[in-house]
Amino acid sequence: MKCKICGHAMIEYAQGTYYLEAGKLFSVPFYYCKNCNTFIRKVDMNSIFSHMNAASYTAIKNEEKFYKARINFFKYIYSIVKKHAGSGMANWLDFGSAYGHFIQFLSKENIDTEGIEIAEQVREYARSKGQKIYETIDAVPSDKKYDVISLIDSLYCSDEPVALVRKLFSMNKENGLLVLRITNRNWIAKFKKRILKKEINLALGDATISYSKKSVTLLLENNGYKIVEIKTLEKGKSLPVKTKLFYIITTILHFLSIGLITLTPGLIIVAKKSSTEV
Ligand SMILES: [Zn+2]
Repeated sequence: MKCKICGHAMIEYAQGTYYLEAGKLFSVPFYYCKNCNTFIRKVDMNSIFSHMNAASYTAIKNEEKFYKARINFFKYIYSIVKKHAGSGMANWLDFGSAYGHFIQFLSKENIDTEGIEIAEQVREYARSKGQKIYETIDAVPSDKKYDVISLIDSLYCSDEPVALVRKLFSMNKENGLLVLRITNRNWIAKFKKRILKKEINLALGDATISYSKKSVTLLLENNGYKIVEIKTLEKGKSLPVKTKLFYIITTILHFLSIGLITLTPGLIIVAKKSSTEV
């Protein structure tokens, strides 16, 4: 298998469980690219859709819990984007908009915001609140262009990231921004396998593709974007004590190593559309 980011040959690294609704589990292979530090889980799109529709973060009963856990984090992401946008934030597209919490906040900031959400329950929930939510990216009118497009924990679902980024590029206005939040857990997966001799799938969550700082940079810069900021500090998240401690330790390590060691579990990336075509 070739790496979907850099094209180098990948190695079969391990087997891992993939979760579906009603307790159906099955084992799928993880491939690893040494060149750009990326894991790819070999799972078909139907299983991914099925999983998205049954995941805890698309269940209506969890709406309030996720609102409380993430609203300050969304505000933090907005504050980062704002620094780079100047006055150009008339409209915004949130890819993977879930319950519509980010859209709700951005609308209050007078930004005309729309979303894309494949999971039916949360999509209908957000629509019932008056939000404009497309079911798929192809449903967005082709003449629509956005100042900002955000993918908060949603890039990892896509099994064709190059095609996705190119499509987003065509939907971004000139000098428009793309903001991503991704997990940064590949080092945990490798540590688990090599040192602890354990299964790696829990470390990688439900990611179809698990990125590193290097691979997300390659993905964006090879497809028309220029990285303007990468944040390792993730403010505003409501986390369990153990996870919080983990964030603190890895953040201290990151600063002590002058940014050379990035073990923080998540990254926020802001990129600017830097060319007119890819
Ligand atoms: Zn690669």
